[in-house]
Amino acid sequence: MTDKTLKPEYDIVIAGGGLVGGSFALMLEHLARDSGLRVLLLDAAPVAKTDDSDGDDFDARSTALSWGSRLIYEQAGLWPALAGAVTAIRDIHVSDRGHFGATRLHSDEMGVEALGYVAENRHLGQALQQALRDSRQLTMRSPASVERVQPLSDGAMLTISGAELDSIKTRLLVLADGGRSSLCQQLGIRLQKKQYDQQALICNIAFAEDHHGQAFERFTDTGPLAVLPLADHSSGRERQHRGALVWTLADTGSGDNEPGQQYSAQRIMALPEADFIETLQQRFGWRLGRITHAGARSLFPLALTVAAEQIRPGIVLLGNSAHTLHPVAGQGLNLALRDARALAELIVAAHKTNRNPGSMDVLQAFLAAQSGDQANTIAFSDLTTRLFSNTQPALALGRNLGLLLMDLMPPAKGWFARQAMGMADRRSVSP
Ligand SMILES: Cc1cc2nc3c(=O)[nH]c(=O)nc-3n(C[C@H](O)[C@H](O)[C@H](O)COP(=O)(O)OP(=O)(O)OC[C@H]3O[C@@H](n4cnc5c(N)ncnc54)[C@H](O)[C@@H]3O)c2cc1C
Repeated sequence: MTDKTLKPEYDIVIAGGGLVGGSFALMLEHLARDSGLRVLLLDAAPVAKTDDSDGDDFDARSTALSWGSRLIYEQAGLWPALAGAVTAIRDIHVSDRGHFGATRLHSDEMGVEALGYVAENRHLGQALQQALRDSRQLTMRSPASVERVQPLSDGAMLTISGAELDSIKTRLLVLADGGRSSLCQQLGIRLQKKQYDQQALICNIAFAEDHHGQAFERFTDTGPLAVLPLADHSSGRERQHRGALVWTLADTGSGDNEPGQQYSAQRIMALPEADFIETLQQRFGWRLGRITHAGARSLFPLALTVAAEQIRPGIVLLGNSAHTLHPVAGQGLNLALRDARALAELIVAAHKTNRNPGSMDVLQAFLAAQSGDQANTIAFSDLTTRLFSNTQPALALGRNLGLLLMDLMPPAKGWFARQAMGMADRRSVSP
């Protein structure tokens, strides 16, 4: 076991131990096993935050993990800890309210056990935190933050708060500090932001019928809504079939009294539960029987934010600090995990051949490996948001034909499924 006292110098310092920074640290540990790579993970928030169940556990927030992400976690030895706490997505049912187009994606058609999985964030966080605590090689401090970054010719000098040392040198600083990265701001890394004038309403719902592992993506003239399968919720002797709703709605700001705005995010958010359920039932239909309960609702503004630079000598951005995707297509974490794996592989290869992991040739190789995947995933998320939230007749017809053709043409369906499964990039499916 590595001595875990804090050292004045590391090969890699990861600022941010969220889902991305934590997963990346564990990938490094797995790949660099016994190679002497010195890795420090710092998180500004206390570790216990991942035990937080967002209130009553009926309302626990969740994330859809693609099949590709399962393979990445499997390679890093983390899947066994997660497998017991995820719900498999066996089918995805895609439909357009009031129109003829509909398609189904089946896991057996794709030759996989599941198209993806839904993991409650607290289970995911707990599994990662446990693995980090059990780690033999990683050093971790939390709550401890990187306050300032001073670039050097061979890395960066960091000012730290909350740990035994005030300053630490690193050959590579990995910024995994989330979408509102104060460190990117400090370094003058600009963000390119695109607003969709929409909000995603997130809430868990209970319904009368078992979902049998089906996920639903339903396009309506007021925006798409998705229901992801969750494990049944038990309280006392009562058992409820449960799903996670992501409902995209127009963001009307304060102008929600205008005619035709009855489906604005603000208005739907404010409905009493019974009215909310009735409106949702009318939009979603009866595929899961009667909706019997809707939990706590929250709104997330839809935007796409991409950092103008992802690498500098001795610095690389990962996760939401590099690109924050809107939640509708469920791709943000999945893309970040593919980035993380590519970066971990390159760092470990550099370390094993005595090269500086923070040198520009290593970081440029990372960008070269991932920029295509990033561009495709961002374009896929952007396209699904724009195409499927649009009520213009020509676009509505186009997407209905698209859905119909997808069912008739296996290659098109396969393409859509591979994007959703995080397998469009062939690297992400190699065992
Ligand atoms: C409603 C919603 C639903 C989503 N659903 C999906 C989905 O189904 N599938 C999917 O793939 N993605 C989904 N996403 C996206 C996914 O949640 C994000 O991509 C992911 O959480 C990003 O994690 P992160 O670690 O980059 O950032 P964060 O989770 O923001 O973590 C950043 C961490 O950095 C720490 N930190 C900040 N500053 C410092 C500092 N200076 N020093 C040290 N530590 C610091 C913070 O304490 C925090 O722990 C969804 C997002 C939302 C909002």
